[in-house]
Amino acid sequence: MEPPSDDPLVEESCEGESMKPSPLLCVEILEAKPNKLFTEEERSWIRFLRYNLPIPCADCGKKKRTMWTMLCSFESITIVSIGRMSKKSFAPMTPVCNEHPLGPDIPKSNAEKVTA
Ligand SMILES: [Zn+2]
Repeated sequence: MEPPSDDPLVEESCEGESMKPSPLLCVEILEAKPNKLFTEEERSWIRFLRYNLPIPCADCGKKKRTMWTMLCSFESITIVSIGRMSKKSFAPMTPVCNEHPLGPDIPKSNAEKVTA
């Protein structure tokens, strides 16, 4: 039997060995399990992204294979130094690494009060 050469099904698996010269980048999208870190509502928005290759975080640029994101527009927080944070807004499904707490990018009128 000849090995299948152009079988489109072959490329669908990203679990394979990394012998290929340029493996296809793919991602697995996972829901967080119920836990104390997130409210049930937050959990419904948050998704973990598990890539087969490291990709750069949209916020800090660090390359990682595990990212997280939200299904709605969201804010990502970076601790700049003690007491100083920078917030950036991202479109739904933008991958950021786990060093940035995420929260829905709620229009300002409803946003929680900023504590100085
Ligand atoms: Zn990052």
